[in-house]
Amino acid sequence: MDDTIRAMLEEEIRELPVIQYAWVSKEEIPFSERVRTICKEECPRYGKSWACPPGVGTVEECRAACSAFEGAFVFTTVAEVQDIMNMEETLATRGGHEDVTREIRFLFQQHSLRTLAMSGDSCAICPECAYPAGPCRYPERMIPCIEGYGIVVPLLAQRAGIAFENGGGVVTWFGLILYGG
Ligand code: SF4
Repeated sequence: MDDTIRAMLEEEIRELPVIQYAWVSKEEIPFSERVRTICKEECPRYGKSWACPPGVGTVEECRAACSAFEGAFVFTTVAEVQDIMNMEETLATRGGHEDVTREIRFLFQQHSLRTLAMSGDSCAICPECAYPAGPCRYPERMIPCIEGYGIVVPLLAQRAGIAFENGGGVVTWFGLILYGG
């Protein structure tokens, strides 16, 4: 990506409710099988969505998919909640973040860039996911989960210089856009 497009994108993205952002190389994105183990043992969405493992493929397949891009853009949005330990309340704030993720993906696409967007949670477009009986109904709209790809988000945040948390009562949502020509 040349500097002019990058500057234009940053100007456009600053119009959105993004708290922090950074450009990272694809080599800086950390993958780990351990993240996938946590998905399997602790996440109720494991095995229930095309946006999550094992539907997204193995960690190696996810890494290879990311390697096909030129670089990555990582960003955060935040939402205030009464009780950050209340999963229902916390998850209810993700829609706004996914709207921002789709808008940023659209901006990249407007500059003729290929994209692979990821967000902080599983896909919730359909009331009931088609996984595993049939293919994803909206592959162009669906945004897979960052952790589901086996990406270590705290380490990615550290490498990107982005805060992993923003204080009590604040949910910090991460988004990642892989881009390429
Ligand atoms: S768009 Fe529908 S079928 Fe595709 S991953 Fe999301 S919920 Fe599942």
